Amino acid sequence: MITSSKLLEIWSALRGEQARVLLYHSISDSPSDPLSVSPDVFCRQMEWLRENGIRVISSQALVSAIQGGQILSRTVLLTFDDALTDFYIAAVPILSDFHYPGTVFVPTGRVGQASNWGTKSPTRPVMTELQLKEVAALGFEVGSHTVNHASLTDIDHSTLKSELVESLLYLRGKIDIDSISLAYPFGRGGPRWAMCCWRLKCCSPMACRLTWKNSSAVC
Ligand SMILES: [Zn+2]
Repeated sequence: MITSSKLLEIWSALRGEQARVLLYHSISDSPSDPLSVSPDVFCRQMEWLRENGIRVISSQALVSAIQGGQILSRTVLLTFDDALTDFYIAAVPILSDFHYPGTVFVPTGRVGQASNWGTKSPTRPVMTELQLKEVAALGFEVGSHTVNHASLTDIDHSTLKSELVESLLYLRGKIDIDSISLAYPFGRGGPRWAMCCWRLKCCSPMACRLTWKNSSAVC
């Protein structure tokens, strides 16, 4: 059992009757990067979930359960923002071993490029189109993280709409995904974003800031 403070906090959160979202970014050995979890620690976290009887579900299952009024205790959804190449290299094999679903959110305009959108984390490669297709074929969900990893509270309405629409078109056209989840970058969303998502009939806008401390999904 892992005794890190994070997992103890997760444990406390799981006592409630809500599903929780465990939000990851980079799965890599980068001790100085606060958004990185090493593959070894990630693997032990998955073991911890299994050993403690925590159910891991997909975002589609989570949305269906919420719509059906089900109570989801001791349940988590695993998400991976930014679709970094290390998700493909490090996380996919571990998740596959555990038979756990996961959702990876990609800024579609950065596919096959670098994650240089101005965070304090190191710049990392974003998965290629081929890699995205491969993880989708393996059963992992690929969702939208806008086109340019845009800060949606800082752009006008037409730019906001194009960040969503173009991203959805890419995923539907290139990766052949029908039902698309969304996660807004930098944890910045709000009512304007939610309304736009609703009009575009997106599946489950996920809020970056709603991590395992306070999860939610809105349809
Ligand atoms: Zn992001």
